Amino acid sequence: MSRRHAHVETRLVHAGSPALKGSSGPVNVPVVRTSTVRFADTAAQAALQRRRAAGERDATYGRHGMDTHQALEAAVESLEGGYRTVLAPSGLSAIVLVLLATLAPGDHALVSDSVYSPVRKVDKSLLQRYGIEVEYFSATHDDLESRIRPNTRLLYLESPGSLLYEVLDLPALAAQARRHDVLVAVDNTWSGGLYCQPLALGAHISIQAATKYLAGHSDVMMGVVTVDSADLAARIGAAYDALGLSVGADDAYLTLRGIRTLDVRLARHHQNALRVAEHLAGHPGVARVYYPALPEDPGHALWRRDFSGASGLVSFAFAHPDPATAARFIDSLSYFSIGASWGGYESLALEAAPERLAEHRYGREGEAGGSVVRLHVGLESPLDLIDDLEHAFDATRDALRRSA
Ligand SMILES: *Cc1c(COP(=O)(O)O)cnc(C)c1O
Repeated sequence: MSRRHAHVETRLVHAGSPALKGSSGPVNVPVVRTSTVRFADTAAQAALQRRRAAGERDATYGRHGMDTHQALEAAVESLEGGYRTVLAPSGLSAIVLVLLATLAPGDHALVSDSVYSPVRKVDKSLLQRYGIEVEYFSATHDDLESRIRPNTRLLYLESPGSLLYEVLDLPALAAQARRHDVLVAVDNTWSGGLYCQPLALGAHISIQAATKYLAGHSDVMMGVVTVDSADLAARIGAAYDALGLSVGADDAYLTLRGIRTLDVRLARHHQNALRVAEHLAGHPGVARVYYPALPEDPGHALWRRDFSGASGLVSFAFAHPDPATAARFIDSLSYFSIGASWGGYESLALEAAPERLAEHRYGREGEAGGSVVRLHVGLESPLDLIDDLEHAFDATRDALRRSA
């Protein structure tokens, strides 16, 4: 069976599935848990070590991961269209792995200012101590090329951006960086890798918090890094080994199981979120909705050009300026749980912290400044979710009236 040119829905179902042993075998890859890898003889051990040193994907120790890990890596490679995928114990550790593998003391990195905000903590607590300088810029307002210095090594982007979903012009930004031999890494978590392939748009490295849509059931922490070349695979692999990273086989299995249904889950997240976003856009209690699949979103044209679908993340700003609005609203919801993270089957609501929003140059121009709520729209009936939101709007309006 040739899987190379199959459609993505087909590849998601078949990538990494185990070969038959003899005349039969399981559909699913087995969960191969091990610390020690054993060898037939010392010559076999030496041969495998040589292959690994030459950049082959061979395990000589449990930390390298065996069949289950390799099956997941193969599925993500196929999804992202990359040369090699490396697993990491969380999305954030995948980001740290990329930063430490690509940057050295004295280097400068440019990072889009609407990035997942814990990246700034990595910068403060780790990169600054190692003499690496990170500069934040607005990828929709600033001129990138004028900020590139002789020691700039990395352009780190996230599109759509965190909290307000600022859609970046990835091909244009990547082309500018490439003219100066600057590596381009993109956090691709929002699209699940299904709706956007940053490597095809010019990035060298695509990162996902597989914790979110790839695993998809709020029961795994996992990160994935996909690179476009053998050279980058070797650099990331060396940093991975040096950091002593390792991923459990059970978590790799659960993530691969999630990937099998990625297409159907994401299609429903998109459909439900669009209905919720459209409802919110027509609501008198709402000043603005942030969702790139809405035609009035400033990123809509770029989203249509570079993405084939949208996630379940929808944010909105309240028309009412009282900063207590978001908390009242969230506390009145019942189907939306209060929690960070997203990408599971369930709906979530969270207030976007004003200090996080203040880090973004995007999105808050000319606004009254009402508080912002981020919803993750899950796989429940959108009618029930909209009812729940309506009830919360009513309860919030009554509470604000009483306190006025
Ligand atoms: C959640 C998230 C991460 C971090 O992933 P963890 O698995 O929680 O460490 C990174 N980037 C984005 C965009 C995320 O949403």
